[in-house]
Amino acid sequence: MEGNRQYLDLTDIKLSALREETADHGQHPYAIVICCSDSRVIPEEIFSASIGDLFVIRVAGNVLDNHQLGSVEYAAAHLGVKLIVMLGHTNCGAVGAALSGETEGFIRYIVEDIQEAIGEEKDPLRASELNVLHGVKQLRKAFGAHPEIPDVEIDGAMYDIRTGKVRWLES
Ligand SMILES: [Zn+2]
Repeated sequence: MEGNRQYLDLTDIKLSALREETADHGQHPYAIVICCSDSRVIPEEIFSASIGDLFVIRVAGNVLDNHQLGSVEYAAAHLGVKLIVMLGHTNCGAVGAALSGETEGFIRYIVEDIQEAIGEEKDPLRASELNVLHGVKQLRKAFGAHPEIPDVEIDGAMYDIRTGKVRWLES
C-alpha cells in the first residue's frame, strides 16, 4: 500500500490523463511481450513503456502453453497488436532448473518444456537463446497464418539483466 501511495503521489498530469484515456477508450498496445516472471526483468522499465503500451505475458522461463497462446491471440486478434516479442534473459533460473534436471512439484512442467527447447545444450546463455527461439517457432506456427491476425511480426530477443541491454535473436 505504501508503494501504491507513492505511485499516486508521483503521478503527473500526463500519466493521470493516460490512465483516464485508456480507461475510457480502451487499450491499444504496440507490442505483445512474453517474458519471464523474474523480478529483474520488467518489460515496461526496459522498453521505457507506459500504461497501455505493452501487452505483457509473464511466466517463469517464458514458456508457452494454451493459456499464454490464448492471451497472445486475444491481443493480436482483438487489440490489433502487430508485434509479438518473445523475450528471454540472462541468468534465467527456469533455464537453470532445466539444465540441472529439476523435477520437483509443478516446476517440472516448466522444466520439461524448456528441456524440449534446449535439447543437449549445456551453456546457460545459449540454452536461454534456444528456449526463446523455440517459443518464436511455436508462436509462428500458431499465428503465422492465422486468419484473424494478418501481418503480425514475431521475433525473439534476449535481455541482459546486468547491462539492461536487449538484443534481437536471428531466427
Ligand atoms: Zn527467467
